[in-house]
Amino acid sequence: MNAPIAIEVLRERGQREVFCGLTGIIWLHRKIQDAFFLVVGSRTCAHLIQSAAGVMIFAEPRFATAIIDDRDLAGLADANEELDRVVDQLLARRPDIRLLFLVGSCPSEVIKLDLSRAAERLGARYLPQVRVLNYSGSGIETTFTQGEDACLASLVPQMAQSHEAAQLLIVGSLADVVEDQLVGLLTEMGIEQVACLPPRRAGDLPAVGPHTRFLLAQPFLADTARALEARGARPLPAPFPLGVEGTRGWLAAAAAAFDVAPERLDAVVEAPIARARAALARHKPLLEGKRVFFFPDSQLEIPLARFLARELSMQLVEVGTPYLHRAHLQQEIEWLPEGVRLVEGQDVDLQLARCREARPDLVVCGLGLANPLEAEGMTTKWSIELVFTPIQGFEQAGDLAELFARPFVRRALISGAGSTTRGAAA
Ligand code: SF4
Repeated sequence: MNAPIAIEVLRERGQREVFCGLTGIIWLHRKIQDAFFLVVGSRTCAHLIQSAAGVMIFAEPRFATAIIDDRDLAGLADANEELDRVVDQLLARRPDIRLLFLVGSCPSEVIKLDLSRAAERLGARYLPQVRVLNYSGSGIETTFTQGEDACLASLVPQMAQSHEAAQLLIVGSLADVVEDQLVGLLTEMGIEQVACLPPRRAGDLPAVGPHTRFLLAQPFLADTARALEARGARPLPAPFPLGVEGTRGWLAAAAAAFDVAPERLDAVVEAPIARARAALARHKPLLEGKRVFFFPDSQLEIPLARFLARELSMQLVEVGTPYLHRAHLQQEIEWLPEGVRLVEGQDVDLQLARCREARPDLVVCGLGLANPLEAEGMTTKWSIELVFTPIQGFEQAGDLAELFARPFVRRALISGAGSTTRGAAA
């Protein structure tokens, strides 16, 4: 990679308002269809997962919490024995599970329960039927998208060594429909050897080696990228596939690395780009010129801000991100408008003060801040929705713009309903 460019970044360390890494289970359990996520945590952890993912009544869920109770916390019970018993029961009842993640939490870290040893012990018992891995989803010093990073990083040592010719690896969970579209475009360009991490089934874990070039599909995968590089894979510097420019730039990085002629790339992307531009044009009149303020939450903030500024002509008041990985975000940062205020980390009180002073038209923030800000008359967008929704690629560019347009439509409706009610009351 080239040397990162110099940028002015305001760094803040203070109180943070973010979800923990357990949240990633919500999209990861849908992505890896024969995996099970067993959180080793408290009732709080169980409530978080259940309320965020919804409780499935008719389907067998593929996540659960092994509750650490007061006896464990007081050291009166052997938590390892208890965990083994829960895993034995689970695997006896669910023979469809091929990959079991033991997911650490704040409580398991506080009592120093060694889940890597537990995974080794249980893996030895259940291989080759079930692979048992572990990662941390704890909320101590993390933000919610780091759960996916930790999960994918735990898969990397399990990948077979590849000695084959060049292979392209797409890294990061994408909705299946998006993944199919992007792989389809890469194949049309003539890149045949394309694999994805995570795979849809545990048995399809791709191989990795010095001939592997990887493209990050999500900006929050620093540990996974490091683990892949340690296995000899090389990253392809690229923007993230959000909006027309980001998706084209992402595909162009693959094209350059795999000797695809520029004319072929242009021919493959021409029609999807035309469709994406038409979809964006429908939302631009509502968004153009609006001032947007990002609180740090999902780590998607910088690519999203770039998309809003360059493709929808929105004005960036402040762009906060929990962590700023300069090498992975180099292209994105270069595409931001000059002078934009970038903030890494969070001191929520200071940031709230700046937000209130700026009175932006739209605030993109976590759930905990959205309601109070709405009550103060601000229009908000939940950043977590941008992680749950398929937004990458050309075909989703219009949907991505719509996600930012919707809060304005909602507020206009509420204001209209309010004035009608007031009118009726009067
Ligand atoms: S892992 Fe920590 S932050 Fe997350 S739900 Fe459990 S206790 Fe709360």
